[in-house]
Amino acid sequence: MTKDSSDRGRADPAAWGEATRLVRGGLSRSPHGETSEALYLNSGFVYPDAETAAARFAGEAEGYVYARYGNPTVTMFEERLRLLEGAEACYGTASGMSAVFGALACQLRAGDHIVASRALFGSCYQIITAILPRFGITYTLVDSGDLDQWRKAFTRQTKCAFLESPSNPGLEIIDLEAVSHIAHEHGAMVVVDNVFATPVLQKPMTLGADIVVYSGTKHIDGQGRCLGGAILSTAKFKEEQLKPFLRHTGPSLSPFNAWVMLKGLETLKLRVLAQCAAAERIALALQDMAAVERVLYPTLPSHPQRDLAMRQMKAGGTLVTFFVKGGRARAFDALRQLRIIDISNNLGDAKSLITHPASTTHRNIGEEARATMGITEGMLRLSVGLEEVEDLLSDLSNALS
Ligand SMILES: *Cc1c(COP(=O)(O)O)cnc(C)c1O
Repeated sequence: MTKDSSDRGRADPAAWGEATRLVRGGLSRSPHGETSEALYLNSGFVYPDAETAAARFAGEAEGYVYARYGNPTVTMFEERLRLLEGAEACYGTASGMSAVFGALACQLRAGDHIVASRALFGSCYQIITAILPRFGITYTLVDSGDLDQWRKAFTRQTKCAFLESPSNPGLEIIDLEAVSHIAHEHGAMVVVDNVFATPVLQKPMTLGADIVVYSGTKHIDGQGRCLGGAILSTAKFKEEQLKPFLRHTGPSLSPFNAWVMLKGLETLKLRVLAQCAAAERIALALQDMAAVERVLYPTLPSHPQRDLAMRQMKAGGTLVTFFVKGGRARAFDALRQLRIIDISNNLGDAKSLITHPASTTHRNIGEEARATMGITEGMLRLSVGLEEVEDLLSDLSNALS
């Protein structure tokens, strides 16, 4: 790969402001000098001679060998996200769930223990409570905000703390700094699912987290096109734990999806901040609607962890959760009446999307687990998009009246 001519040999991307990192971070131009990042849609690589092939396989020469191990477009995506997060290393994965599973499974073995927040995304809950236990890895779930519960849950076998803040769909906020401190006292690694906050609003590593995972499918693509994910860590963790596990088990990020997400990152900050501003206006308006029992949004004065949210995050996020009076029947009625906002379990999209968690994303975990997470039949989770806020407000008020 030739030097990017626009670098002119003097750029230091780590010193760039966030917006510049998002637009130019990781850019590595081919000899053709294309403006936009190139899409290298290839699985294999050829070598000038057998000696070069042997040297690359031996790890003695730089260069790609196979797309399951790495691809130039995937590398550009990883480098751009790495610079945004301020992490030492980034590993792109096929989906958010492969990032969650990979980050945990690469370092755990039978006999190990995980402490996790109870309020988790449905599939994260399945990994911790159903899949990893099959391999002899035990767990303890704790209430997000109760630091005493966190303290008591760690044992000598605890290797990892896993958490999500804000949580899906309850928007519970966890004190990342306090939990990281507790985990580190017990020699455990802190893995944060930062999907709801996005790297624009919250940087868990600056608060003590060791590993951050993303679903690129959500805000990073942000336009409903591709599945993808990423794990951010130290360079040592990537080399020693992630690479040996992920290269051989194969949840590789497709170069095409990496390219879409690389372009998504360019507008991530603009989109997320605009969506947050709209979400806050909508949360305030929903509070005044008669059909609405309660609204959850991290920056509302009524949110139980508002101060923590404002300390830890740049804005409240793009999701608003609210409770409709009258349970499932009234919630479904409201969904039926919407004319603009689509019914979809996806989130972080330019299009506003709404879902009924009890019957969709959190159906599988069962009624009992739903009750402990506060997921009732009247709960709706709204992902606020980029439409005119006035249109969204009238769509909601019509549907709820
Ligand atoms: C969507 C989501 C995931 C999983 O991401 P996929 O790309 O769908 O695999 C994990 N955690 C949270 C909080 C999510 O919202």
